[in-house]
Amino acid sequence: MSDKQKVAVIGGGLSGLIAANQLNKTYDVQLFEKARGVGGRMSTRRAEPYQFDHGAQYFTARSKAFQDFLKPHISSGLVQEWQPKILTLEKGQKPYKRDWFEPHYVCAPRMNSLCKQLSKGIESLFSVEITNLSRHDEAWTLEDKSGEHHGPFDWVVMAVPSHQALNLLPSNFQPLEAIRDVQMTGCYSVMLGFDVSPKLNWDIAMPKNSLIKWVAVNSTKPDRDTAPSILIQTTNEWADIHMDDNVEDMAGIIINEFCELSGVTIEQIKHQVCHRWKYADTLTPAKEEFFLDQNLNIGVCGDWCIKGRIESAFLSAHKLCKKIID
Ligand SMILES: Cc1cc2nc3c(=O)[nH]c(=O)nc-3n(C[C@H](O)[C@H](O)[C@H](O)COP(=O)(O)OP(=O)(O)OC[C@H]3O[C@@H](n4cnc5c(N)ncnc54)[C@H](O)[C@@H]3O)c2cc1C
Repeated sequence: MSDKQKVAVIGGGLSGLIAANQLNKTYDVQLFEKARGVGGRMSTRRAEPYQFDHGAQYFTARSKAFQDFLKPHISSGLVQEWQPKILTLEKGQKPYKRDWFEPHYVCAPRMNSLCKQLSKGIESLFSVEITNLSRHDEAWTLEDKSGEHHGPFDWVVMAVPSHQALNLLPSNFQPLEAIRDVQMTGCYSVMLGFDVSPKLNWDIAMPKNSLIKWVAVNSTKPDRDTAPSILIQTTNEWADIHMDDNVEDMAGIIINEFCELSGVTIEQIKHQVCHRWKYADTLTPAKEEFFLDQNLNIGVCGDWCIKGRIESAFLSAHKLCKKIID
């Protein structure tokens, strides 16, 4: 039996997987994820013959640490630069071209490919939602939704959105109040599938004065093996106002708006699914890049500590683990 200390990582999004990988060298790591697979907000939804990156669309890499981490994945083709044609769209206005001035990356062949790669070699339990933590003799036991217990663990790392972390953290976790100040915001994603690609003169449209903030022709991303597919995302403000409304009703409103903006007709659409993200982006980030209570042996990380971006999820987990290992 290993005499290494045991760490439970809660959350199989990018931050949880970075934490699991970095801690796996020194500790025995067990990862818990409530969904059926890894990816979190970097997930890909498949509905043969279509696939949709219905969360994160792309990412940039501005810090040296993230650039260094990406290098081997860029070399292997798992991460590729996306060079789409971008237009603004506004009703009654002429569209104009937009440029990106730094590399924008996607994972290939799907957005969840990087998380899948990182999960290799990590002992993971899926479809297990952790609902409670308890501590006896300086060791943590985790309870899941079905009442099963897991442990004991010397350390717990939480890599989940701030509201979900607050539901799990013990009341004596020292930085609890700072996490309460974090505000996250929602988004609706609508996935559309086609038999024949609609004739569009853009790969990405950025609507103006609309409830839609982003439309991407998903099938134009590098190395995609999908029938023609389009992904629409609403503004966070509109999603928050309609967060408790009927998802199907919201899908209808979003699709009508998309058709008016783009000229695509309802008859062309052969497949449609709408997904509601309650915690998509971060309005008010935490004032710390991660949180660590060394009396309780609990660390907390996630994009929301810094900014609602993939690079932030990486940096938050990377810096937390460096601190734990040091
Ligand atoms: C619609 C949308 C568009 C976006 N667009 C971009 C973009 O273009 N560029 C960009 O850089 N970023 C974008 N983002 C943000 C990006 O996806 C996130 O910054 C990043 O994926 C966050 O990773 P994370 O690991 O911190 O959190 P998450 O990916 O949310 O991972 C948390 C994981 O924890 C799991 N979990 C939660 N509670 C529990 C529990 N109790 N027990 C077990 N498991 C649990 C969840 O199922 C999830 O898998 C977007 C996000 C969304 C939703």
